[in-house]
Amino acid sequence: MKPLVADVAVVGAGPAGAAAAIGLARAGQQVVVVDRTSFPRDKYCGDGLTTGALRLLEHLGLDPSSVSSWQAAPSLVIRAPSGLEVAYPFSRLGQYAATARRSHLDAALVSLARQAGAEVLDGCACEGVTVDADRVVLKVAGVGALHARYAIAADGMWSPVRRMLGLSLPAYRGDWCAFRQYYSDVGPQAAGALRVWFEPEILPGYVWSFPLPGGAANVGFGVSRATHRSGSLARLWHELRSRPHIAAVLGPGATPTDRPRAWPIPTRLGELPLAAERVLFCGDAAGVGDPMTGEGIGQALLSGLLAAEAMTEAGPHDDSAARELYRSGVARHLQRDFHFTRLLGRALRNPTGCNMAVGISGATPWTRRNFARWLFEDYPRALVLTPDRWQRGALGGGAFGDRPRGVTPG
Ligand SMILES: Cc1cc2nc3c(=O)[nH]c(=O)nc-3n(C[C@H](O)[C@H](O)[C@H](O)COP(=O)(O)OP(=O)(O)OC[C@H]3O[C@@H](n4cnc5c(N)ncnc54)[C@H](O)[C@@H]3O)c2cc1C
Repeated sequence: MKPLVADVAVVGAGPAGAAAAIGLARAGQQVVVVDRTSFPRDKYCGDGLTTGALRLLEHLGLDPSSVSSWQAAPSLVIRAPSGLEVAYPFSRLGQYAATARRSHLDAALVSLARQAGAEVLDGCACEGVTVDADRVVLKVAGVGALHARYAIAADGMWSPVRRMLGLSLPAYRGDWCAFRQYYSDVGPQAAGALRVWFEPEILPGYVWSFPLPGGAANVGFGVSRATHRSGSLARLWHELRSRPHIAAVLGPGATPTDRPRAWPIPTRLGELPLAAERVLFCGDAAGVGDPMTGEGIGQALLSGLLAAEAMTEAGPHDDSAARELYRSGVARHLQRDFHFTRLLGRALRNPTGCNMAVGISGATPWTRRNFARWLFEDYPRALVLTPDRWQRGALGGGAFGDRPRGVTPG
């Protein structure tokens, strides 16, 4: 079989790989993306999109109306372990939070990548990687050899590329474990707002219910592996969703429409490799997810775009510049927020800290509005501590509206 040749080969067509492919193709690079699944495909996820993620989707040219399950969220309601409930409204100018089934969102991103000029080969797993001085050669099922100057490993939590290059952390199974289940016929409370319950024994983890169109909801919970070590999570899920305050919000008609699905979430930025020779790692493969909430779609999109920029700027021959540019982009746009958030997240590990956080953030209309913007990454989490990012437009302003835009790479 004649080898396929590209400037950049991308492994994985989730948000990280699709964003990288769009960025590269728009910069004039020849890109081939391979994914072992065929799109549309499901990804176990809460389907929640922060303002940061929304703004990046807008930057990529995504039209929310092309995603059939897209729904903007008007507010978030958090219940503290004490039982205190606080409603945090989002501004109505632009979108600050939304939900979309990953099967729909990811397929729309793959379409955008194709429209931008990337060749996407879905249903084709990467089964081997060899890195030479001037190229990367991938072995792709059903395709044969794929030769490229660079590769992007956007192949998710278990990153087969990382494993094939011998770079996996021993016995690493992710930092969070999360369960997701879809429901139909939820009650008006669950159909209206994003809901988060901080239940004492799973802190700093939480239960969520995120509304989807047509009376559906994505309901699930996540626990940190650092603090939660024992017991069956499947049994715990059954028990958590039956708690009266959670069952009351889901409503008497709420009916599961699939089995609960579990998947790990990696939040190990700085410990998992970001770059090795001619390969850059993005999204879950680089552990860039938020260490406090476990969300990772926005971070996956951003890291994919940063990798695309680094490769484009470095040119085809200077792989050391590509690695350096990518590392410094990640340090500037992701790493400082990651460390700051991890530190703050420690306050949520015990009921007292969590009750205080909810109490203080819910004290006044001003704190409620501004906490919601901070939590949903309307601006970078550590912006206040990083004056080099104070610039016009840095304070965000929602997405898909007519307000000023916030920070996007470039
Ligand atoms: C239960 C749960 C709930 C979550 N909720 C949220 C949420 O509400 N909001 C949020 O922002 N984040 C959430 N996350 C995190 C989010 O899902 C991930 O951070 C995000 O999907 C990472 O995107 P990615 O592109 O890096 O990887 P993925 O989306 O995992 O994509 C990786 C792709 O690589 C492909 N691949 C793997 N191996 C190969 C191979 N050998 N060859 C070719 N292709 C391969 C896969 O098929 C897949 O399509 C949640 C995670 C879980 C587990």
